[in-house]
Amino acid sequence: MDTPVKAPFGGTDFPTTWVQFLDWFHSEQACRDYLEKLRWANGLTCPKCGLISQVERMSRGRLICPACRHQATATAGTIFDKTRTELRVWFAAIWYITSQKHGVSALGLQRVLGLGSYETAWAMLHRLRRAMVVPDRELLHGKVEVDETYLALTDRQNPISAVGRKSNTTKVLVVIAVEMLHPKGFGRIRIRQINRGDYENLMPFIRASVRPGAVIHSDGSPSYKNLEDSGYGHRRTVYFGSDTPAHESMPGVHRVASLLQRWIMGTHHGAVQPGQLDYYLDEFVFRFNRRTSRSRGLLFYRLLQQAVITKPVTYGRIVEVPK
Ligand SMILES: [Zn+2]
Repeated sequence: MDTPVKAPFGGTDFPTTWVQFLDWFHSEQACRDYLEKLRWANGLTCPKCGLISQVERMSRGRLICPACRHQATATAGTIFDKTRTELRVWFAAIWYITSQKHGVSALGLQRVLGLGSYETAWAMLHRLRRAMVVPDRELLHGKVEVDETYLALTDRQNPISAVGRKSNTTKVLVVIAVEMLHPKGFGRIRIRQINRGDYENLMPFIRASVRPGAVIHSDGSPSYKNLEDSGYGHRRTVYFGSDTPAHESMPGVHRVASLLQRWIMGTHHGAVQPGQLDYYLDEFVFRFNRRTSRSRGLLFYRLLQQAVITKPVTYGRIVEVPK
């Protein structure tokens, strides 16, 4: 788990029930005050000159630095920057998606919040997914399984044709890393979409996901060569024919891959563009790595905490699907 400096407390740092949530976040000002506290937990810092001091408060949540007269708000420079959606609605959305075990689709969010447009719900979810990647997060360690697998996506731009149903499914390759706990069970995971399962694609993922010193368990593919040179321990399972089923030799990767496929097909009805998949993977990893968190309020807190340190992203950048 990504270890916090000081463990936040239910009822003091975050609401623990829906009724408490309604009580705390009854107005825009209450939401802004809360964001301010999260963003500047160690005292207000001027984003321009870095001064830590008593800022002057203006109307509508504006703060002015006494030294350089820079004006700031708790939302400027975060994913809430220039939003036309009320913070209360954002907060409700975050509460809702973190309290649903498997998350929610854009249509589901639009319905539950009564949002005017599907696009608004869709863009909110995408902005929140950007906040689900923890910066400087702790790398996986111990025993780590790494393997590639194919995911099936439904291609919305190529809907079911009159000719046949097969044309609307796209297969994309992802690489999955899973911490294997002793004597059993899974720790944290990382997942990334890759173009090919070769050394050039796998090695950067491993370096970005797994701490040197960890023992990586892979198949016999030459793509996993030279792991020892990069400071990793390496255990290979070489398959001879098909007499070793994948769920026996790589139980962690196998399990995560099937949960991921079910989540894509279930919550999102398979309708994920390959170019957007990375953001869905971030959400899946965020949820999986916090699956044992007993308090849903804590998940709300964590996501909001990350949202105020995540840079804004324009609608144009969200809809543009990279190749
Ligand atoms: Zn300043």
